[in-house]
Amino acid sequence: MDLTALIDDIVAAMARETERGTVASYIPELAKVDAGQFGVAIATADGRLLTGGDADTGFSIQSISKVFALTLALGKVGDQLWDRVGREPSGNAFNSIVQLEQEHGIPRNPFINAGAIVVADVNLGGHQPRVAIGEMLRFVRYLAGDDAIRINEEVAASETATGYRNMALANYMRAFNNVRHPVDLVLGSYFHQCAIEMNCRQLALAGRYLMLDGRHPEGGRVVSPSRARRINALMLTCGHYDASGDFAFRVGIPGKSGVGGGILAIVPGRAAIAVWSPGLNTSGNSALGTKALEMLARRTGWSVFSPP
Ligand code: GLU
Repeated sequence: MDLTALIDDIVAAMARETERGTVASYIPELAKVDAGQFGVAIATADGRLLTGGDADTGFSIQSISKVFALTLALGKVGDQLWDRVGREPSGNAFNSIVQLEQEHGIPRNPFINAGAIVVADVNLGGHQPRVAIGEMLRFVRYLAGDDAIRINEEVAASETATGYRNMALANYMRAFNNVRHPVDLVLGSYFHQCAIEMNCRQLALAGRYLMLDGRHPEGGRVVSPSRARRINALMLTCGHYDASGDFAFRVGIPGKSGVGGGILAIVPGRAAIAVWSPGLNTSGNSALGTKALEMLARRTGWSVFSPP
């Protein structure tokens, strides 16, 4: 498979697309991003990195951070995490509160906001938010092998000023003792983790451990093989909010999207892929990013449902 030619074709096809979605505006700072951009990066299991389009432009990773936060939380508390967060797709919007009432403050999965807020509470572990945020940033830098990755403070402040839904979710779960630190500390940590800024190149590199059965490509282990497989399973079933089933149907690759327009997709044993385009479709997932991954899966045969 000539991945360089494929990337060129994808970039050209995305430039021709007219339905480019709408940039998220509920976090005011994100609304300023130019919707015309598209980037892609593929890190392969044999150590290559191929990029195209705006692959060097930084963007807010937002919910993609939930994958890295989950990895850290599982490292801290292991499978006890599953006493506080479920593992089922939600079928509801990323910021929905309805199931929390039915399920006594236990979020459906770690990739909707409520679940990620519980994960942020676990990662806080009695520390001040700056300690947890520093740990998260160091972890992502280590995964990508890039110390230039930073947090965009304007985005974090913008969400802190307007994140009423997340405050409601956190307070609701605090009432069930499923958020155990003060809500402002948990959300401070959560908003900063979402405000991590990366480009496609850095994001694809950061995802390599998930295609390598939990190994860090430079040596050592990030997570056990079974944990890597389980994180990939959650990405496939829960990584695209209430459109997770449709993404599995169209693309067939575990992926996690964020409202900044990025998607991290993992092809076990083959590739970690980052795509980014800030315009979102009606489910809140990158419109061009989804189309690009659909094209990539079709051309490579990398759907996890295809024979190897
Ligand atoms: N920080 C965003 C929020 O909590 C993340 C949402 C997302 O990327 O889906 O609303």
